[in-house]
Amino acid sequence: MTISTPDKDLLRHLVLDFKQMNQFAEEPWIFTGGEGLRIQDSTGKWYLDGLSGVFVNSLGYGNQRILDAAITQLREMHFAPPLHGTSQPALDLAQRLRRLAPAAMQGDTGPGIKLLSGGSEATEAAMKIARQYWKQAGHPRKYKIVARYGGYHGATMGALSATGGWERKSVFEPLVAGFLHHHPPQVLRAMLRDLGQPADDTVAGIASARLLERTIEAEDPETVAAVIVEPISISSAGYVVPAREYYEILRAACDKHNVLLIFDEIITGFGRLGEWFGADHYGVAPDLLCCGKGMGGGYAPLSAVLIAGKVWEAFLGEPGDRREFHHGHTFGGNPVAAAVGCAAIDEIEARDLIGNARRQGAHMRSRLEALQREYPDVIGEVRGAGFLQGFEFHAERHPKAAKPGKRFEALAKEHGLIARCGDEYVAFAPPLIAAHADVDEMLDITTDCLHEIAGQAERLSG
Ligand code: PLP
Repeated sequence: MTISTPDKDLLRHLVLDFKQMNQFAEEPWIFTGGEGLRIQDSTGKWYLDGLSGVFVNSLGYGNQRILDAAITQLREMHFAPPLHGTSQPALDLAQRLRRLAPAAMQGDTGPGIKLLSGGSEATEAAMKIARQYWKQAGHPRKYKIVARYGGYHGATMGALSATGGWERKSVFEPLVAGFLHHHPPQVLRAMLRDLGQPADDTVAGIASARLLERTIEAEDPETVAAVIVEPISISSAGYVVPAREYYEILRAACDKHNVLLIFDEIITGFGRLGEWFGADHYGVAPDLLCCGKGMGGGYAPLSAVLIAGKVWEAFLGEPGDRREFHHGHTFGGNPVAAAVGCAAIDEIEARDLIGNARRQGAHMRSRLEALQREYPDVIGEVRGAGFLQGFEFHAERHPKAAKPGKRFEALAKEHGLIARCGDEYVAFAPPLIAAHADVDEMLDITTDCLHEIAGQAERLSG
């Protein structure tokens, strides 16, 4: 479908995320339709969606099972009053999530499930659960949350307070009290390298996790409620993939000091890494696990917090003793969103899309590594896991200041590919339904873009 572009005044007054609307009004990008892995814009041009929208559209556009589930539920009952009760789809989704939760979160009675609508709602809820938990588990002084520099946990004030980059938060300061940050493994790795030390990911991961433990100790463990991290995150340098040892030490430190571990799996959950959760990928389970984005495939706003059984037990009591979770959102557990969530899980299982992400992710990785060998002056490092794969540009030949990632982004758009590009990195997160040929198409376009970037650099230096 092609449509005429709205007038500039209207475009300037639509407030899009993190965008300068004066600039957007000059170069608007308006989407009109989608089919499978492809999305069309208002000029009629089609793009291969190499980022699943924004880590959301895991099941592609026009998925029949999900459309049917949503329409059936819309006809039957579009809303259930959340202050009074729940609905069958919400119960069905909770049951599926309890089954999928990592084994170590099960406890004697299985995990608790809080259904919500967005990623920030989930991380906020998880941190509030942690604070309330300790109040009613005999440690009322525990309230501090330790997060990571470079991490992103959402846009609301609590989630933003946990977020670790000044760019998204300094204009809103002061933020919520009681949030601390620690430096992640990649910062330590870069420091060790600057010092001429042969630092690998394992060494940097161990050092970072031990520093985090020192932070807990220095703060007085009796005041620390939780640590929140994304198993694999996207930072200003691209994907951050800590070594397994980092999480093993983190888990042990949290256990030792009575601190809850929260995994923000808004990106890594629901098959993205070729496992249901990043927790499964690393073999380390959190006490609270937040998921969102791909959970509903983008067909409905949907997120959840999975709460380890032993934590949730502390919220069960008698009416009037105020042990219930003091938190709610109008659209949490919405029956249409829940029906979409059930259908998304059924689709992932019926088509083994997690196995597909693992297999095609490995294919994507091997093609990116081949490209690194072909263009050693352009690609510095390939990083990722499963269907989160990307690369960082060669720091000396294509420095951050020259914004090679932004050049790549513009070229890829011209060639009909959407990826996520920072100044110095390119990141892909294809829909879980992407087949071998789709990955090849993405990487063929990537090759063309790199070829142009390499040629341009050669022309400039020659
Ligand atoms: N956590 C992570 C890791 C995210 O990537 C995001 C969003 O990008 C959020 C939380 C916040 O999710 P939402 O934008 O749905 O509120």
